Amino acid sequence: MCKWWAQDSLGLTEAIHEKMKDRIFPAKVKIGISGCQRCCSESQVRDIGINGTTKGWMVFFGGNVGTKPRIGNLIAWGLSESEAIDCADRLLSYYGSYANPKERTARFVERIGMNRIKTELLVLLPYIPVDNI
Ligand code: SF4
Repeated sequence: MCKWWAQDSLGLTEAIHEKMKDRIFPAKVKIGISGCQRCCSESQVRDIGINGTTKGWMVFFGGNVGTKPRIGNLIAWGLSESEAIDCADRLLSYYGSYANPKERTARFVERIGMNRIKTELLVLLPYIPVDNI
């Protein structure tokens, strides 16, 4: 176990894998989960990124690397494990509903904008305080 571990990233990885393994999305989806904010799994440049902190989990959306890299938007923080899984699930469901075929999350977020994601999705998530949206 790494000495910097703030949260159980291996346990969350198993739970997310179980939840997502049969899902089909418009394009490739990569999920990075890091046990602390040192971000060794490069979570902030993954479609879904989740970082552990001493106060719970942070969730990022819309990151990627490649020829046009993008750092994912910070969506929520201070989440429990079940909230982080739910948040990732809802973000990817929303993406699955509105993305164009083969459109990765980074380009999806750029095209539709965070304001639309906030007003159509994030305001509905009870574990995100209104002041944080
Ligand atoms: S992100 Fe890196 S430093 Fe942090 S707990 Fe994981 S392996 Fe350790």
